[in-house]
Amino acid sequence: MADGSQQSSAQAATAVQPTRAASEASGSSAAHSVDAVKIYGRGDTAVRALDNVNVSFDKGRFTAIMGPSGSGKSTLLHCVAGLDRLTSGQVYIGDAELGALTDRQLTLLRRQKVGFIFQSYNLVPTLSALDNIVLPLTIAGHKPDGPALDEVVRITGLGPRLRHRPSELSGGQQQRVAAARALVSRPDIIFADEPTGNLDSRSSAELLDFLRHAVSDLGQTLAMVTHDPLAAVRADRVVFLADGRVVDEMTSPTADTILGVMRHLGD
Ligand code: ADP
Repeated sequence: MADGSQQSSAQAATAVQPTRAASEASGSSAAHSVDAVKIYGRGDTAVRALDNVNVSFDKGRFTAIMGPSGSGKSTLLHCVAGLDRLTSGQVYIGDAELGALTDRQLTLLRRQKVGFIFQSYNLVPTLSALDNIVLPLTIAGHKPDGPALDEVVRITGLGPRLRHRPSELSGGQQQRVAAARALVSRPDIIFADEPTGNLDSRSSAELLDFLRHAVSDLGQTLAMVTHDPLAAVRADRVVFLADGRVVDEMTSPTADTILGVMRHLGD
């Protein structure tokens, strides 16, 4: 057993060492994990969903997380975002080590520093699109900042539909509202879990345009789990997981290079 864990540690370290070292040296990491392990269950039925993951999400960059089904993508996202706790290792958002925080501190940190976009849009049905977008600010007791809000609203491309309720919007429009809601408080990092999973190809492209714009023009940091190469290709960097480990990564991905790695991983 000791041999097995040494081997996985060494493999994970080899896979990500340059990125991790570079980010830590320059302080450019919005969030990162150190030897992250997550085990679900116990005994014979235990599943090692994360197996010594060292990964860093650089500030102002769009990182996609890919890998076969069951490779640990969602678990990694949830643990780094502070929605779930590790079995061992550490995750940091900025300088804050999440394992050292109480549940209440973690809730506050998520509210202040993290944005989320899920596959299901999770909008409040009784509120207009605009009121949904500003909800995080309203909850925090902040007044929406005019120009910053205008910019976020502008890039949603929703125009007159801002006064509509979610049920009066298409799926693609609802997801752009959810993305704008994640962006409006300008969090240190946005985590997106299969955000295009329920969208047709045109709506996916529109959402990805929005996300790309948020990173390139507003300097947002974004980490996105996806199984879709056409979504991942919009990222600056793709990290590949298999069996709970980081096994590859690339910058400036193309559909071909992504598909090449995914085929190799057996997806
Ligand atoms: P992915 O997002 O890449 O499909 P997941 O992170 O959802 O992978 O799952 C990684 C592994 O952990 C899988 O083997 C999955 O069955 C297992 N797993 C995920 N969540 C739980 C859970 N709550 N309880 C037990 N096993 C889980």
